[in-house]
Amino acid sequence: MKIIFLGPPGAGKGTQAAIVCEKLGIAHISTGDILRSEMKGNTPLGVSAKEYIEKGQLVPDSLVIAMVEKRFKADDCANGYLLDGFPRTIEQAKALDGITDIDKVINLEVPFEQIVERISSRRTCSECAGIFSVRDVADGICPKCSGKLYQRPDDMDETVRKRLKVYEEMTAPLIDYYSQKGSMVTLDGNRGIDVVTADVLAALEQAKI
Ligand code: AMP
Repeated sequence: MKIIFLGPPGAGKGTQAAIVCEKLGIAHISTGDILRSEMKGNTPLGVSAKEYIEKGQLVPDSLVIAMVEKRFKADDCANGYLLDGFPRTIEQAKALDGITDIDKVINLEVPFEQIVERISSRRTCSECAGIFSVRDVADGICPKCSGKLYQRPDDMDETVRKRLKVYEEMTAPLIDYYSQKGSMVTLDGNRGIDVVTADVLAALEQAKI
């Protein structure tokens, strides 16, 4: 099964994607996670991406599309995959159309005020990329792998506002793009994690029929 998660930063895409991919046994492809790992490794792609990510801007389409195409060739994609944070522009969506068909697009909706609150309390694991709320991990240690948690620099104040603006301008048009294709379902992401997961799985079950 091939799935896309759409939604603004902080809508819960990463949290839901990790749960759903484990349940379905498909690959979790988070372009943000891949770019952060390239940055950590100081690779040429990581160095190029850093200047955009730090400013809350999108990394150029050509770089991200090439990165995703390479990722699709990995063995773990054979059973299917879930795209988390890709596509983020119409150009990326068109490039993806040229590569593969998608079974289902899940659009997670969360009000902007809620997003700012969620992102400011978000902590990310430097080892496994797990996502937590600072309220649940006061010791700064990842409950899954004991890695060190950190606050992403682009999760801080001004950059978050910039990312939300970029989302409105560049990514929100994908909602129309995919609803016209008839493969999209919009879910209220402003609920408990388990409730949202149940709705996501029900929507994917329907897509199989
Ligand atoms: P995320 O972890 O999905 O919030 O992504 C963090 C940052 O990585 C974004 O703010 C962008 O700068 C960059 N990024 C991730 N995915 C993409 C993409 N599909 N296209 C362009 N930039 C991306």
